[in-house]
Order: sequence, then structure tokens, then C-alpha cells
Amino acid sequence: LVEFDGVDKSFGDTQVLYDVDLSVDEGEVVVVIGPSGSGKSTLLRCANRLEEIQGGDIRLDGRSVIETDVNAIRQQIGMVFQSFNLFPHKTALENVALAPEKVKSETGAEAKEDAADLLDRVGLADQADSYPGALSGGQQQRVAIARALAMEPKVMLFDEVTSALDPELVGEVLDVIEGLAADGMTMVLVTHEMGFAREVGDRIVLMADGRVVERSETQSFFDEPSTDRGRQFLSRLL
Ligand code: ATP
Ligand code: MG
Repeated sequence: LVEFDGVDKSFGDTQVLYDVDLSVDEGEVVVVIGPSGSGKSTLLRCANRLEEIQGGDIRLDGRSVIETDVNAIRQQIGMVFQSFNLFPHKTALENVALAPEKVKSETGAEAKEDAADLLDRVGLADQADSYPGALSGGQQQRVAIARALAMEPKVMLFDEVTSALDPELVGEVLDVIEGLAADGMTMVLVTHEMGFAREVGDRIVLMADGRVVERSETQSFFDEPSTDRGRQFLSRLL
């Protein structure tokens, strides 16, 4: 469904991604891990055109994202970040309904009905009329996930969506992501929650210094990494 094919990315003279290949099948959950600065966020940001690439190609459904209208790409590739960036003066429901109303030319009533269903899906049916300021970080992040889902993306990208949360709020957000995985959503997750990676990931991709240095089935990665880099990375976690 999504293919990174020899992707090179530089900021000015500094190259941060080198010849990255990665393909994600429909319904698959790929977890990208690696040390800070290894290029994980940049890789995700390139996929939905928040960053331009200097070499290679990224395809969605066989079609180059670079040649596709950027708004169309962002509808089809949903992304959720560490920071939730909800509109503070709109309710949870309005935050979720906003983009579909504008972009999918849904009527206000349709968009709000769909938004209510999505809030239910992330466990927040009872908070539809709450403003972000009245919600916990975990609840806000779940609204942000519902908002991304509202565009009915083909794939969801998650970049360390729990790392700004208090530890007791992490679980509720991870539960939502696990639910999406169970429903067959295609996802690429960047996380440092290794327990979660192990549970939800079909495959693990380890990055270091802008390169993919190991790709393995989840089980075999955690049991017995196939590279020195993989072994090093795991041993530092213990
Ligand atoms: P972390 O685990 O800390 O989030 P990461 O693996 O997500 O790290 P990136 O944020 O993708 O790493 O950064 C990869 C490299 O690109 C780093 O060296 C970083 O300093 C550099 N970089 C990222 N964004 C920019 C930018 N806008 N301008 C210049 N350099 C950047
Ligand atoms: Mg990052």
C-alpha cells in the first residue's frame, strides 16, 4: 500500500535519510524504532509531504505522492503527532467534524454524526461537547486520533503519540491504536514503547543514522535480532 523507494532527504547540506526502502502492506502494522536523531520522524513527515525528498520516491497505492495533490495525500495518509494541536475554541466533536465538513463536502449534520461515531470509537462519546482545555492529555490525543480518522485515510502514521503524556494516560491511547490494528488499519508507528511495539507490530524496522539497519518480524526481532545494530539497540534498553 505504501512504498518508500530509495528515499534520500537532506536539510541543506546535511543528509538525514539515506536510500530508505520500506513497504507497508494493506492491514499491516510496521513499527519504526531507533535512537534519537536517526530520522524516524523525518521519514513519516516525508510520506505526507510535510518534508520534500531529494531522491527516490514514495508511493501510495502505486502512485507517487510527489505527483499527487498535497491535500489529497493528507486525506489519504493520516498523521498524529506527539502534540495534539486541537483547536482550543472548538469542542471535541467540532474538532473531529471540521475537516470532513470542509474537505469531503459533507453537510454539517453528516460530519457531526460521523464525528460522534469516531469519538465513540476512541472511547470519548461522553466528551463530545467538552473543550480541549477540559480534557486530559490522553483524552486530547484520542480526539486527535479521531480527527485523523475522520478523513477516512488509507494509512495512519503515528509519531511518538504517547511521549508527551503522563505515564498513567499512555495506556488509554495505546488501547485505541491496538483497536485500530485489530480492525485492520494499515499503520506505521514510531514509538519507544517497546512492550507496545512488540504487542501491536507485525514488523519492526530499526533505523540508525538515517538508514534502515534492520527489518524483521516482530517476534524474531525481540527474540533474536539479525544484526549487530539490532542487538546493540535492544541491549541498551535492558
Ligand atoms: P527522535 O527520536 O529524537 O524523535 P528522530 O529519529 O525522529 O529522533 P528526526 O527528527 O527525523 O529524528 O531527525 C533526523 C535528523 O534530522 C536529526 O539529525 C535532526 O537534527 C535533523 N532534522 C530534523 N528536522 C530538521 C529540520 N527541520 N532542519 C534541519 N535538520 C533537521
Ligand atoms: Mg522523532
